[in-house]
Amino acid sequence: MSFRCTKPTPEPVKTLAYEPWKLSVKPFQVSPRTWYVAGQTWVGCYLIDTGAGLILIDTAIPESLHLLVDSIYQAGFRPQDIKMILLSHAHFDHTGGAAAMKALTGAPVYMSREDTEFYYNCPEETMVLDPDSHPQDFQVDGFYSDDEPLRLGDISIRTMLTPGHTIGCTSFFWEETNPVNGQTYRIAMHGGVGANTMNDKYYATSRYLTPDLRERFLADEEKLAAIHVDIALPSHPNQIEIMDRAGQYTHESQPYLDETVWADFLHERVRQVRELMEKKG
Ligand SMILES: [Zn+2]
Repeated sequence: MSFRCTKPTPEPVKTLAYEPWKLSVKPFQVSPRTWYVAGQTWVGCYLIDTGAGLILIDTAIPESLHLLVDSIYQAGFRPQDIKMILLSHAHFDHTGGAAAMKALTGAPVYMSREDTEFYYNCPEETMVLDPDSHPQDFQVDGFYSDDEPLRLGDISIRTMLTPGHTIGCTSFFWEETNPVNGQTYRIAMHGGVGANTMNDKYYATSRYLTPDLRERFLADEEKLAAIHVDIALPSHPNQIEIMDRAGQYTHESQPYLDETVWADFLHERVRQVRELMEKKG
């Protein structure tokens, strides 16, 4: 299996707000301890079973919250067992449901210090981006430190500040062991790669993001691609194809195991940003 991606979902917010069933998808396992639980195909939300509680990565928007909660139950878990909520970046499509998930679970919410400031200072570029979604304000309880992994049970999540798409976009890396053959896999989710905030048009009106973030994104490619990743997960499922194998996971078959996908995905996203630069986009 090599790297494949699909076209972005057309009018995703409108669809999720008014016809959410059109994008709905059942939860599915992607690695020995991780499930895709977003309940919809637009924004990725992942649940990691640490053996001592659950970690939720990203929450999508309030309009699809019912799909997220239902997915957690359908995957065989309970929201009350979520002990940490990690946010990849401050945009409403990843954070809009954070307040409700925190209220439901009592779990602390983590985001980078940089994107927390971005969120507080610049709601028009983080939260208030689409008239059809009504993201709820949330409190951030903890910041990430690249030097101090977040630990719960036997899972240790290393965070890495990967600016570009936002100023404090954060990527996650962790390891899981296959109980059948004892092999350990490194799993990664990049925090955000959208070129929609890495182009001259965006910078011309932005109050907060500047072209040096794009430079940093391009410069980080090599460093990130050099990290060995066995299972690469997308923050939006169109960025790395995963839906085609939904429901096929077994510990024996490992349908998402492919050490080439991570680097190919990064190269493709950098190519897209450079293409816009050439078009003076
Ligand atoms: Zn975003």
